[in-house]
Amino acid sequence: MTETHAHSEPLTDTTAIPGIVDRLRAAFASGRTKPIAWRREQLRALRRLLTEERPTLEKALKADLGKSPVEAHTTEIGFVVNEIDHTLKHLASWLRPQRVPVPMALAPAKARRVREPLGTVLIIAPWNYPVNLSLAPLVGAIAAGNTALIKPSELAPATSAALAELLPRHLDTEAVAVVEGGVPESTTLLEQHFDHIFYTGNGAVARIVMAAAVKHLTPVTLELGGKSPAVVEPGVDLATTARRLAWGKYTNAGQTCVAPDYVLAVGDTADGLERELAAAITEMFGDDPRTSPDYGRIVNERHFDRLTALLGSGTVVAGGDHDRDTLYIAPTVLGGVPADAPVMAEEIFGPVLPVIRVPDLDAAIAFVNERDKPLALYAFTDSEETKRRLTARTSSGALAFGLPVAHLAVPDLPFGGVGESGMGAYHAAASVDTFSHTKSVLDKSLVLDTMRVAYAPITDLKERILRRML
Ligand code: NAD
Repeated sequence: MTETHAHSEPLTDTTAIPGIVDRLRAAFASGRTKPIAWRREQLRALRRLLTEERPTLEKALKADLGKSPVEAHTTEIGFVVNEIDHTLKHLASWLRPQRVPVPMALAPAKARRVREPLGTVLIIAPWNYPVNLSLAPLVGAIAAGNTALIKPSELAPATSAALAELLPRHLDTEAVAVVEGGVPESTTLLEQHFDHIFYTGNGAVARIVMAAAVKHLTPVTLELGGKSPAVVEPGVDLATTARRLAWGKYTNAGQTCVAPDYVLAVGDTADGLERELAAAITEMFGDDPRTSPDYGRIVNERHFDRLTALLGSGTVVAGGDHDRDTLYIAPTVLGGVPADAPVMAEEIFGPVLPVIRVPDLDAAIAFVNERDKPLALYAFTDSEETKRRLTARTSSGALAFGLPVAHLAVPDLPFGGVGESGMGAYHAAASVDTFSHTKSVLDKSLVLDTMRVAYAPITDLKERILRRML
């Protein structure tokens, strides 16, 4: 669980990287990844990897993040299996060329939109869902017919090693490669020519990625994070609200990009909500969550120190215990948190939930709009009018009422951010969009030359016709 492993010994020799990329580019150029049969076969092979190698992946996730096998299934392995199944079911229809109408002036002719793969894509993944966030983008890259290089996070070294070992064993090694390592390896990778870069992680590195992409005019998808607020209105069922917030916040010990970052408790809801949050934590993880098999650990000492420094930002209403040796931080609720407290300065990305009091919905909306556009905005309300106002007056990657986090499990909802929370989106059909170019195809027969009217010399008659037609 320490950072030293990956930083001190690079796992892929950086001098080998240009050759790996060349091989992937050559494989794409050969056309082997274009037939839908190849794509299906690779997706099925990836599915087999996820089921047959499940114990290895579960062990790696346990070592990196203390993830329980059930959480490993619901948020990572099973999640990607579902993504594959959904993709296999719908891929043919997503790839089918779409006919579009042709203007009168060009008739008779046919026009259609045809998807083509981009080429060789780079997927840079973070440590918090190291299987999901490496392989779900890979599903899209393969489905769209690309070759792909995955760079897992060095901060989840066991999972990175497992992916580096397993992917070549199960998938077409000419078309899919893994490069392990940290900054030196990523820097060398970003110097290479890719046709798309899909980056998941923090905004600071996203800027490095985008700057590097300029060199080859490479399009980027940036899946970033930020502070996702949860608005709680008076009158809602606070016990259910608290359980759902606790579930969304404390899964993976809060290290989830779409975890509710903080609560905006409207009117008089704060006291009751804080009590219910404390009760929900006990109900889920017992009196001592460190003994719960369902509760994870912080990824490393650096993040542990960052998080424990935030505990003084308010009054500890629940949790607060921590142990550096085991990287444990209890599921924590902070009450009485001022809007300018340190815990409100940056994405928390850990099991600390501040509750901020706001007088009314307008104040909550103003609070959200004064800050960066979040990856997700959550609201717990019984009012359709509140839902309408939040939908119309705020901007976020996603907006969910009554349930945090789970929108990303709806395959046909594109998943992505806006503004500081990212650009571009993926999952299911949106992944095929992201990893494809939509080529416009116009097809006009040479048999009858209906274009004569447009050719010079332009007579008065031609002019009248052209002015009427166009
Ligand atoms: P991280 O430290 O693992 O970094 C992400 C990737 O960037 C890693 O593969 C890392 O090696 C690479 N990297 C680091 N420095 C680099 C450099 N200088 N040049 C090129 N690559 C470099 O993960 P992180 O950034 O700490 O991840 C947490 C952040 O990611 C949070 O902000 C979280 O909200 C966000 N996140 C977003 C999503 C999403 O889907 N939108 C999902 C998970 C996490």
